Amino acid sequence: MLDPEECSGCGLCVRDCPAQALELKKESRTEFQLVYYPARCAYCGQCVESCRNQAITHANQLAESTSTPNASVIVLKDTLDQEKEKET
Ligand code: SF4
Ligand code: SF4
Repeated sequence: MLDPEECSGCGLCVRDCPAQALELKKESRTEFQLVYYPARCAYCGQCVESCRNQAITHANQLAESTSTPNASVIVLKDTLDQEKEKET
């Protein structure tokens, strides 16, 4: 689980994830997208430890099953669209 209010897009969780289950697509300091790939996740808890903002917590929640590993992709935070909306 991610608390989008607390996530600053620092990328520490992405850097420390041993399973490459997190990805940060960053365009600027405020424009970024944090993506989570549950199929790769080892549920090791490293991302929870690494986050200085306590933005990530573990949850007893099952992800939907899928037969294609990359089909299950969860966008945890996306400020890219918000920034674009502001511009228009
Ligand atoms: S629990 Fe571990 S494997 Fe899963 S996203 Fe966090 S650091 Fe990566
Ligand atoms: S969840 Fe935490 S460690 Fe990961 S990018 Fe957001 S603030 Fe940084």
